[in-house]
Amino acid sequence: MNIILLGPPGAGKGTQARHLVETRNMVQLSTGDMLREAKDSGTEMGMMVADVMARGDLVTDEIVIGLIREKLEDKSEHGGFIFDGFPRTLAQATALGELLEATGQKLDHVIELRVNDDALVKRISGRSTCGQCGEVYHDVTKPHPEDGKCVKCGASDFKRRADDNEESLRNRLMEYYKKTSPLLGYYYALGMLKRVDGLADMKVVQASIAAILDN
Ligand code: AMP
Repeated sequence: MNIILLGPPGAGKGTQARHLVETRNMVQLSTGDMLREAKDSGTEMGMMVADVMARGDLVTDEIVIGLIREKLEDKSEHGGFIFDGFPRTLAQATALGELLEATGQKLDHVIELRVNDDALVKRISGRSTCGQCGEVYHDVTKPHPEDGKCVKCGASDFKRRADDNEESLRNRLMEYYKKTSPLLGYYYALGMLKRVDGLADMKVVQASIAAILDN
């Protein structure tokens, strides 16, 4: 089963994707993670996109479609792909449809995580993650444990994203409304769109997504 998690930055796509990886052996394809990896390892493409990402602009369709194309060639046994942060434009959405068709696969659900913008700004400013396992923390709602060790894996290197600041977040939100939100109409018209309250308790969101996948 292949699904898209759609929603603005901070809606909880990454957190929900990680849960699906753990519980259903699905493969998370986060173009944001792939681009950060390219940037951290200093590849030519990574250097090219670093400034664009720091500003919160979108990198070109060509680059992200190329990244996804490579991953779809992975034929190992798994429970399906979770597209997280991709597609973000109509051109990416049509390219994904074509790539899936060309590789004999299909899209099963597009799940929108609905949230309000005030909540996003609060969630994202203050966000950090464990550098080892990706567990998400928040300065106010879920601070780092007093012993400085991740509750999940015990590591003690926490990371903050360079683009998790208010200015860049406002730009990421603008990009979302201008370029990504039209995808909601696109997938609704294709009969694939399902909606989930992204502000509900994390376990409730997990259960709502599970109900969609098991239906
Ligand atoms: P994310 O981790 O999904 O929030 O992505 C972080 C940043 O990577 C975004 O603000 C964009 O600059 C870039 N990015 C990630 N995915 C895409 C995409 N599908 N299309 C264009 N830019 C992307």
